[in-house]
Amino acid sequence: MNSNSLYERAKKVMPGGVNSPVRAFGAVGGNPLFISKGEGSKISDVDGNEYIDYVCSWGPVILGHNHPEIAKSIESAIYNGLSFGAPTEIEVLAAELITSSVPNVDMVRMVNSGTEAVMSAVRLARGYTGKDKIIKFEGCYHGHGDSMLVKAGSGALTLSAPDSRGVTHGTAKDTLVAVYNDIESVERLFCENKDEIAGVIIEPVAANMGVIPPEENFLTGLRKLCDKNNALLIFDEVITGFRLCFGGAQEFYGVDADIVTFGKVIGAGMPVGAYGGRREIMECVSPLGGVYQAGTLSGNPIAMTAGYTQLKILSENKEIYNKINNLALKLEEGFKRAAGELELPMWVNRVGSLVSVFFTKECVENYKKAKTSDTGLYSKYFNYMLKEGIYLAPSQFEAMFISYSHTEEDICKTLDAARKVLGNLKELGY
Ligand SMILES: *Cc1c(COP(=O)(O)O)cnc(C)c1O
Repeated sequence: MNSNSLYERAKKVMPGGVNSPVRAFGAVGGNPLFISKGEGSKISDVDGNEYIDYVCSWGPVILGHNHPEIAKSIESAIYNGLSFGAPTEIEVLAAELITSSVPNVDMVRMVNSGTEAVMSAVRLARGYTGKDKIIKFEGCYHGHGDSMLVKAGSGALTLSAPDSRGVTHGTAKDTLVAVYNDIESVERLFCENKDEIAGVIIEPVAANMGVIPPEENFLTGLRKLCDKNNALLIFDEVITGFRLCFGGAQEFYGVDADIVTFGKVIGAGMPVGAYGGRREIMECVSPLGGVYQAGTLSGNPIAMTAGYTQLKILSENKEIYNKINNLALKLEEGFKRAAGELELPMWVNRVGSLVSVFFTKECVENYKKAKTSDTGLYSKYFNYMLKEGIYLAPSQFEAMFISYSHTEEDICKTLDAARKVLGNLKELGY
C-alpha cells in the first residue's frame, strides 16, 4: 500500500482525505504522505522513504519520536485499563508538576485538545469578569472554537478563508481583532468598547502565521492595558508552553498572564490540552464555580502518563532547552547566510526552537507582513526539500519545530539541502 493509493481511498471516506485540513498538502500541491513510523528526528512513509521531520506532530514531539521512556510508561499504563471516568493518581502528579513550575498557574484543568483549552479559557474569562467581548490578534490561531475563527492563521490563512462558514454573526461580533505587535490597535479597541472586554487572548510568540516574535514591550503593554481595564490576559501557550522554557512564555519574557492554555507538548503526542490560572480565577470553574466545563475522557490516564513522563524529563533536564534552541539558532544563521549569498527575498524569524523562513524581503512582524510572502515559491521549496529528504510543514505559515533528538548532522543536511534547492530556484528565475 503506497501513499497515493491510500490517499485515493481516504478521499472517498474523509473530507479531503484527512482529519485536519493542512495535512492535505493543499497549500503546496501534490499528495500527502502517509506516515508509517517515527524514530527520533526521522519519520518514514509507507512508500519506504525516510525524512528529517520538522513538523514533529506540530510541536508535541519535543523529545523526538518513539521516545523509549514515554513508550514504556504508556505500555505499563494500558494494562490497568484505558479510562474510568473517575480520578486517578497520574492526574494529580501532572497537575502538581505543572502548578509548581508554571508562573501564575495555581490550579489546572485538563482537557483533550488545544481547541478545547482555549474555548474553556475564553468562557472562564467571560464568567470571571462578567463581560462578553474578547480581543484577539489577526493571524493568531487559537483552535477551531467558533469565537476564535475570526482572522485565524494557519490552515485558514493559506486557504484565504479566515472566517469559517457556520460561525454566526452573533458569535463573531464579540471577537474584536487587533494587529500583532501594535499596542495602539489594542488600546483603540479598549477605548471603543469601554467596560465590555473580558480579556485579550494572544499567542505570546505567534507561530500560526509563521513564527513572529513579540516586539520589546508589546506583551508588557498588553499586561498594563488589561490591568487598567479590568480585563484578563490569556496567553495561548499551546505551542510555546513547555517549549520556550519549562515555564513557557511567561517565564521566557517575564510577563504575567491571568489564564494560560496548553496543548501539544503537554500530551507528548497524545490528545491533551489544559488551562490554568490563579486560584481565584480557577475557582470559578465547575464544580467549584458557575463556569461549566466537563469531559468524559479529560485527564485520561494513558494520555496523562505520556504527558507527565515527557514533562518530567523536560523539567529535570533543562539543558534540553539549550540544545534545541542552539540547533534552531544554527538553522536560522544557515538560512540567513544562504539567503544573503543567493540574494533571495527571504526573511527568517526564530524564537527558541521555533523557526520560520518567509519568502519576502519585508521584516515579518505581523500578519500583513507575513502575507507578503511568495507562497508559490514556498510550495516549490517545500516539494524540492521533500525530495531531498526534509519534511517541512506543508504551508508557508507554520513553524519548523526542533526536537531534542535532532542532531547537528540533521541541521547540516537540512542546510545543505536548502542551499541546493534555493540555488536551483534562483536559477529558475526566483
Ligand atoms: C494548535 C493550536 C491550538 C489548537 O490546538 P488543537 O490541539 O489543534 O485543538 C490552539 N492554539 C494554538 C496557539 C495552537 O498552535
